[in-house]
Amino acid sequence: MPLALDTDLTYLKGVGPARAAMLRGKQLETIEDLLNYFPFRYEDRSNTKTIKLLAPGELATVVCEVRKAKLSGLRRNLGLFEAEFTDASGATLLGKWFHGGYMADKLTPGTRVALFGKIEFDTYRGELQMMHPETELLCGDEDEGDAALHTGRIVPVYEAAGKVNSRVIRSLVYRVLEDMPHMEDHLPDSIVTRLKFPTRTEAIRGAHFPPSGIPIRMLNDYRSQAQFRLIFEEFFWLECGLQIKRRKARTMPGIAFKLTDRVREQIKKLLPFKPTGAQKRVLKEIADDMAQPSPMHRLLQGDVGSGKTIVAAEAAVIALENGYQVALLAPTEILAAQHFYSLKPLLRKLGYEPVLLTGSLPAKDKQKIKQMLVVGMIPIAIGTHALIEKDVEFRNLGLVIIDEQHRFGVLQRFGLAQKAAAPDVLVMTATPIPRSLAMTIYGDLDVSVIDEMPPGRKKILTKHYTGDQVELAFSQVRQEIDAGAQAYVVYPVIEESETQAMKAATAMHTHLATNVFPDVEVGLLHGKLGAAEKEAAMESFKAGRTKILVSTTVIEVGVDVPNATVMVIEQAERFGLSQLHQLRGRVGRGSAQSYCLLVTEKLGDTGKERIRTMVDSQDGFEIAEMDLKLRGPGEFFGTKQSGMPSLRIANILRDPDILGAAKDEARSFVENPPSEADYASAVEYIKGHWQRRYALVLVG
Ligand code: ADP
Ligand code: MG
Repeated sequence: MPLALDTDLTYLKGVGPARAAMLRGKQLETIEDLLNYFPFRYEDRSNTKTIKLLAPGELATVVCEVRKAKLSGLRRNLGLFEAEFTDASGATLLGKWFHGGYMADKLTPGTRVALFGKIEFDTYRGELQMMHPETELLCGDEDEGDAALHTGRIVPVYEAAGKVNSRVIRSLVYRVLEDMPHMEDHLPDSIVTRLKFPTRTEAIRGAHFPPSGIPIRMLNDYRSQAQFRLIFEEFFWLECGLQIKRRKARTMPGIAFKLTDRVREQIKKLLPFKPTGAQKRVLKEIADDMAQPSPMHRLLQGDVGSGKTIVAAEAAVIALENGYQVALLAPTEILAAQHFYSLKPLLRKLGYEPVLLTGSLPAKDKQKIKQMLVVGMIPIAIGTHALIEKDVEFRNLGLVIIDEQHRFGVLQRFGLAQKAAAPDVLVMTATPIPRSLAMTIYGDLDVSVIDEMPPGRKKILTKHYTGDQVELAFSQVRQEIDAGAQAYVVYPVIEESETQAMKAATAMHTHLATNVFPDVEVGLLHGKLGAAEKEAAMESFKAGRTKILVSTTVIEVGVDVPNATVMVIEQAERFGLSQLHQLRGRVGRGSAQSYCLLVTEKLGDTGKERIRTMVDSQDGFEIAEMDLKLRGPGEFFGTKQSGMPSLRIANILRDPDILGAAKDEARSFVENPPSEADYASAVEYIKGHWQRRYALVLVG
């Protein structure tokens, strides 16, 4: 059977059930998936030599065999692993690996390998050696036949899929390319011609097995013609999708809210303080959008503590005063409850009674709330995912406010938006998303930024303590409490292991309450508590009865207690910068000097850099950029459900220039398509190929 793009990989020789399962772990199921699995690096192995002909200083590839090997040192993982290699030329070459215990099982005498690296001269032993060469085992029959594929040329290096290593993937890709299925070129002809791109087939071939003559540097910079085209293409379809979605949203009928004098009066009545200039500006942007007859899709971005909540409340008042319902969606129950308790007194002044709808509510209460929502008896509902369940209906939903968007994922956002004809959507994010990312994730949203803090805020002093200095941190907590302030002690353990975090926090709570601060009230808050207990813990801290709140990262967003002036973060090294920044934003909410004390156990190089960034910087954008650099976009957003498009070859950090070019081309293509047929076929193509991966729900 000839290969087709959707042929299952198990049809390939050498892919049995075990390998297929490992490939699936990397989302590699079809021929097309494999062709789109690009090398992350290239190695120039064109200089293949016998050992006898090697010269010190050169980069070379050697195909040889292990003659003997030994591991020295006391601890297996820390030992020095040395192997002696030989080949048909009869000469010998040493290979050395520090901390090389992991090589010992692989390189046993008789094993055939290809080594790639720099040749050095061991003056002490008078022999040629390679330190930590790239090593590929030449075992298994499928490999020997393809030997020419792995040496004597520039070779692609792939990320392994479980035990399916780079070498096996290289062979599989090679075989598929020999029998290349037909591939249609969807990129508009006008662009291919003008930008002198190779065809899609040529580009895919060239990205896996570059033709000779392309400098290795260019390949590793991802700037060969083939790579450029593929990166451009990926960004182009993403940007086209976003443009189409935006264009479509603009032509959808929405609600033109009226901004009467009464609405303005009511907004004034709501405000407990004078808004900052930035708050006034973004409110105007939002209000102008809401007055338009098409639905608003706006992102409200601002650092922690910049005062987004009150702006969202103002937007809510506009909708409420126009007789529409409002939904506010938060990522966690605690945050939903927090919004509920801070908005309730404000909205009550205007005669609106919000309700809280979360998953842990008893079924009977949920049912009652749903019934009241559908007849319009509830003006504003605040809640978690429970609010976007299928059976929740509103009578006339006018505005949806979504807090901390990226935790929901873009899909869910529209699940909610589609409940009514077309409500306005305001997305708030406290995570200052670097511009490069904001453009791709939120490319379909207009952006408002609050770039000014409420008056009277002081810089939060951030200090670093190692584990054995934790007493110093607690004595500072003591000082603050004696002065009448309050403190947080946080165990920021990753979400998936809330149980572990709960245990750590509970143990620390007991320790602090009995040994360190027996004379004051110490509270405990974690995700495993019931709703009522959580509420009680928060209420008591808010009211100032609890002086110290020991907590897991559930307090990360939204908790607002201006009297809390010090936060101790335990095991701070385990967290991303943006998360630390969010946490730190829980203090420094009043006019008193506040402190953030980062306690760490073990620190690697990146860890040190992270902590240094936290100590030095207060600027959310700067911290986010640094976080992105240290962790990469995938991890930056934490989970797969983040709504972050998964890119195959393009990389937002490495390729901002190509992204910019693709965006311009996409805009002019969508605004001025060469023909209606071209436009229609682009929409079809995006729907079929990219929509799900890019979460472009509204296209078409
Ligand atoms: P964010 O949601 O952006 O993190 P909040 O809306 O929770 O920030 O505001 C942080 C704190 O600052 C809250 O205590 C809020 O009442 C207060 N605040 C917001 N805007 C102002 C303002 N213009 N003047 C004084 N205090 C403000
Ligand atoms: Mg509108």
